[in-house]
Amino acid sequence: MYAGHYAAGLAIKANQPQAPTWALLLGVGFLDVLFGIFVMLGIEKVTVTPGISPGFSLDFIDWSHSLAMSIVWAVLFSSFFWRRGRAVALAVGFAVFSHFLLDWPMHPHDLALWPHSSIHIGLGLWQRLPVGWWWVELAFIGAGCTYYVVRARRIGTFGGRALWACAVVVLLHVINSPWLAVAK
Ligand SMILES: [Zn+2]
Repeated sequence: MYAGHYAAGLAIKANQPQAPTWALLLGVGFLDVLFGIFVMLGIEKVTVTPGISPGFSLDFIDWSHSLAMSIVWAVLFSSFFWRRGRAVALAVGFAVFSHFLLDWPMHPHDLALWPHSSIHIGLGLWQRLPVGWWWVELAFIGAGCTYYVVRARRIGTFGGRALWACAVVVLLHVINSPWLAVAK
């Protein structure tokens, strides 16, 4: 999943408005930040597969994206927020772990249970629905953004530009559409 992660970040913000928005938005993408660093360091491996959805093959992403490591990164990331209270730390930690939960339906079997585990999971919508995955993710973005906008209107302490935030997420999703195929 790509832009959908940010819709999840907004939804978590709407649920726990005291959690800093920057921490949630960094949190939902944190596993991909680690992935980028690990690929550069040669610890993880990705191969480009032009023409075959989703345009790349994640050959080894166990340190950034396995179930066990997602939990480790979530706990580590949230530990910086314990001083802000339990609810905020939990929200930030859940933002990090939500990345694994949302990648699971999209990724083909490349999400390990733990580093070097022989068991890999993933529903594989990117491959099973080369175009349909985009609509599935759009539906998720629609749900997350609606929740964010409704809560922002009702509570009023956050989301002054709620519709703009949602527009940015939708724009990101459009840039990532299989029709534009940017960066693939
Ligand atoms: Zn990811």
